[in-house]
Amino acid sequence: MTTAAAPSVAPFRFFGLTVLRTERLSPSMRRVTFGGPGLDGFAAGGRDQSLSLFLPHPGQQEPFVPVAEDGTWFDAWRAAPEDVRAVMRAYTVRAQRRGDDGATEIDIDFAVHEDGGPACRWAEAAAPGQRLKALGPAVEDNTSVRFRPPRDTGWVLIWADETALPAASAALEWLPAGTKAQAWLEVPHARDRLELRTEADVTVHWLVRDQGALSAVEAVRGTELPDGNPYAWIAGEASGVRELRRHLVQERKFDRGRVTFVGYWRRGLSEEQVREEAARGSA
Ligand SMILES: Cc1cc2nc3c(=O)[nH]c(=O)nc-3n(C[C@H](O)[C@H](O)[C@H](O)COP(=O)(O)OP(=O)(O)OC[C@H]3O[C@@H](n4cnc5c(N)ncnc54)[C@H](O)[C@@H]3O)c2cc1C
Repeated sequence: MTTAAAPSVAPFRFFGLTVLRTERLSPSMRRVTFGGPGLDGFAAGGRDQSLSLFLPHPGQQEPFVPVAEDGTWFDAWRAAPEDVRAVMRAYTVRAQRRGDDGATEIDIDFAVHEDGGPACRWAEAAAPGQRLKALGPAVEDNTSVRFRPPRDTGWVLIWADETALPAASAALEWLPAGTKAQAWLEVPHARDRLELRTEADVTVHWLVRDQGALSAVEAVRGTELPDGNPYAWIAGEASGVRELRRHLVQERKFDRGRVTFVGYWRRGLSEEQVREEAARGSA
C-alpha cells in the first residue's frame, strides 16, 4: 500500500481584498468588509487572528507590493521608494464567513481617531471597490493566532484597548460556554462600548477614557481575582501592556508562560518607526 503525503500549504500568503461595504460601529470604530475572488483560500483561525494589510498611497489605484513567483517580496518592497511602496499595518480579522454568493468575506474593525496615520485615514475614507493586499493565513492553525489558553486554565483575564477590542471580542466569542473570565476593555467614549457575544461566564469592566477611567494596571490592581489557574491575554498600547504584564507576573505571581502580551501600537511612533527601532535593537 502506498500513502501519499498531504500536500503542504504555506501558512501565510498574499491575498487580494476588495472593499464590499463599510459600517460605522461606534464613534471610534469603523468596520470594513472585504471580499472578492482574491480571498479564495483565506483561512482565519478566529480569536486574535492578525494579518498584515498593505495600503495604497493617496492617488494610487492599488498598493505596490512586488511579489515574486516564489512568493518573496520583502527586499523588493523595502527597496522601493517610501512614497511608492505600500504602507504595511497589522490588523485583526474580526470575522470570516461566506457571503450570500458563497464567497469568502472578512470584517476588519479599524479604531479611528483624529490624528491617525495612513491606515486610520484610509479606513475613514474607504469605499466599495477599493483594493488592498494582505499577507494573511491560508491555514487556520497558524502562528498569528496568539490567544491560546492552556488546557488546565481555570479562568481567563483579558485587557484590551480599542485597537485590540476586535481581537478581544472574537476571543470572547470563541471561549467555551461557562469559561470564567474577567475582561477590562478600554475605549475612548461611552458609545464605543460595543455589544459582546459570548457564552463564557464573563464579567466585563468597561474603562471609558473620557469619563476618567482608571489605567489598566490601576483597574486590575483594585480587583480581587478568582482562584484557579489563570491565563491572561493583554493587548493594546505598548506601555500599558508592559505595565500590566509586570503587575501580573511580579505582584500577582502569574506564571510568565500563562501571560500572552502584545503591544499593538506605541504612543508617538508610527508602525514604521516601531519596526525600525526593533531592527536597530536586534542588529
Ligand atoms: C497584531 C496586531 C493586531 C492589530 N489589530 C488591530 C485592529 O483590529 N484594529 C485596529 O484599529 N488596530 C489594530 N492594531 C493596531 C494598529 O496596527 C495600529 O494602531 C497602527 O499604528 C495604525 O496605523 P496608522 O497608519 O493609523 O498609524 P501609524 O502611522 O502607525 O501611527 C501614527 C500615529 O498615530 C498613533 N496611533 C496609532 N494608533 C493609535 C490609536 N489607536 N490611538 C491613538 N494614537 C494612535 C501612533 O502612536 C503615531 O503617533 C493591531 C496591531 C497589531 C500589532
